[in-house]
Amino acid sequence: MSFLAGKTAVITGASRGIGEATARHLASLDVKVVLAARSHNTINTIAQDIKAHGGTASAFVCDVSNPTPVATLIQHAQDTFASVDLLVNNAGLIDPIARIADSDPDDWGNIVDVNVKGVYHGLRYAIPVMQAQGAGTIINISSGAANAALEGWSHYCASKAAVLRLTGVAQKEYGADGIRVVGLSPGTVATDMQVAIKASGINPVSKLDPSAHISPEWVARTIEWLCKPAADSFLGTDFSLKTDEGRAAVGLPPVS
Ligand code: NAP
Repeated sequence: MSFLAGKTAVITGASRGIGEATARHLASLDVKVVLAARSHNTINTIAQDIKAHGGTASAFVCDVSNPTPVATLIQHAQDTFASVDLLVNNAGLIDPIARIADSDPDDWGNIVDVNVKGVYHGLRYAIPVMQAQGAGTIINISSGAANAALEGWSHYCASKAAVLRLTGVAQKEYGADGIRVVGLSPGTVATDMQVAIKASGINPVSKLDPSAHISPEWVARTIEWLCKPAADSFLGTDFSLKTDEGRAAVGLPPVS
């Protein structure tokens, strides 16, 4: 029986890619999962499939860029499954990719709304619940872009750098309450986001061969590992899957 069995996890951006894989993996560990995204039909179908395979799941339509839907999402998880033990702030965007002088200010701001404010909203509404419980883990999906400058990604690099700092501040503010906040920098992952990056052709990441990307299932296994005390030394910062040490800790093959 998994150490996570019976816990409740809320996963944003669960309609595809890393979020979907995480919801399916956690459900296979007997975690009660709440799938959140904007695509109503897709998350409903995934939740039904999880249930058909013996899991416990609920789908909840939520645009993380607005505070009210995120507050309602956390309330829904509490009402449905009685706790919020894990929040995976995974929802994120990179499109449209453009150099600064070519970028549209509204599009740029939308990335901040989803990638930064979306994570803030998750923290804002999950933390009081976890404080009352005296425990909880929040995993913010970060990126190597939090620490690197890449052409065409000014919005994305700025947003992920902000998320890394949010992770640090939240851990500092609420670690003493039993809340664990950690970032996850997965490296490149075979999802729709990498398809969009490749199509842009704008920087070295877009030139990577798709075989360089790891599977979303590896990221899901890492999220499970980050819930263990063994990951405590990474609280308040980003855990990277781009090092052999990181991969070994999770039980994944080395980088090369
Ligand atoms: P993806 O396949 O494009 O999935 C993105 C998810 O985010 C979708 O489920 C989408 O669902 C959701 N989403 C987008 N805007 C949203 C909003 N306003 N409210 C709620 N959900 C929203 O991307 P992915 O590769 O799995 O990325 C997941 C996370 O990993 C992102 O934070 C990304 O930055 C990060 N990451 C990815 C890679 C990579 O190589 N793929 C590398 C490092 C970090 P709907 O469209 O249905 O709302």
